[in-house]
Amino acid sequence: YDLRNEDLKDLQELGQGNGGSVKKVEHIPTGTIMAKKIVLIDAKPSVRKQILRELHIMHECNSRYIVSFYGAYLADPNICICMEVMDKGSLDGIYKKIGAIDIDIVGQVALAVLEGLTYLYDVHRIIHRDIKPSNMLCNSKGEIKICDFGVSGELINSIADTFVGTSTYMSPERIQGAQYTVKSDVWSLGISLIELALGRFPFAESEADDSDLSDLEGTLSPARPGSMGSIAALSLPPRPPKSASSKKDKRKSKGVSLQGGGMTMSILELLQHIVNEPAPKLTEGRFPVMAESFIDCCLLKDPDARKTPKELLDYPWIEQAKSSTIDIEAWTQTF
Ligand code: ADP
Ligand code: MG
Repeated sequence: YDLRNEDLKDLQELGQGNGGSVKKVEHIPTGTIMAKKIVLIDAKPSVRKQILRELHIMHECNSRYIVSFYGAYLADPNICICMEVMDKGSLDGIYKKIGAIDIDIVGQVALAVLEGLTYLYDVHRIIHRDIKPSNMLCNSKGEIKICDFGVSGELINSIADTFVGTSTYMSPERIQGAQYTVKSDVWSLGISLIELALGRFPFAESEADDSDLSDLEGTLSPARPGSMGSIAALSLPPRPPKSASSKKDKRKSKGVSLQGGGMTMSILELLQHIVNEPAPKLTEGRFPVMAESFIDCCLLKDPDARKTPKELLDYPWIEQAKSSTIDIEAWTQTF
């Protein structure tokens, strides 16, 4: 596809994130339906072109566990990334609609994400860097795929300059400034799986939900590779122009607030909690032991002890998921 903005007709909004919005569009010349993600970039023209070149390798990322890529183009001051539409949306949207997700479905999510991560790393040496339920998508064919992985170092840099990514799925070693590895993605997977199985973000207070915490996303500086020193180095970047309006204001945060340019302690407390306290667990006794122990392995605080996605593919709970006959397609018909 030779994608140009004027050839894409907006059909529907699919979602809003920190960095921009995602719309369902039709590519008029071919009739192809796509998801167009608009990312506001703060970068020089030369850097923008570099980002486009880097995004190009997404054309080579072909796996049934990875959302497929149609192309990207510049539409100043944005970069538009066009990908496959996943008509059932993201798993965070799904659990917020239907409640806690059945543990056997969560097992299928774990399998799909591990397969996707293993593919990205083994074939392309790509580390995802942003594993969370909103980057796990599902369609009515019953396919589960991951999206929004960090293919472009320049894109990661440019986004970090304008707004800041999610921090609450971040592993303890990343919070403390260590390099990203595939094992950091495994931590984020563990947190995400608990969230899906419980129907709430595991670190949130009982009455608060994940959207409260996501109000704080964007408050932490820098997911810049290698540049993040420690908790003490966190600072408050300028608010992105978008976040002042849009959905953020509609949500009144319960308990945590970020106003007047000062950072409440809550986000720091959360990060300190991740670093200092025992990792969260699935509620004991409510779930199969195999699921509990798999998640415990994802959430080993010592990255040296934590397994890689490829190693985790051999774990009993995942082996069981591979041979399961559960019908995800039928499940997607229920909502
Ligand atoms: P985030 O992942 O932080 O929520 P994004 O801008 O990446 O922010 O995405 C916003 C929302 O758009 C997602 O939560 C998801 O529900 C929806 N979305 C993203 N990509 C797709 C896609 N390819 N198909 C369907 N929905 C999508
Ligand atoms: Mg996303």
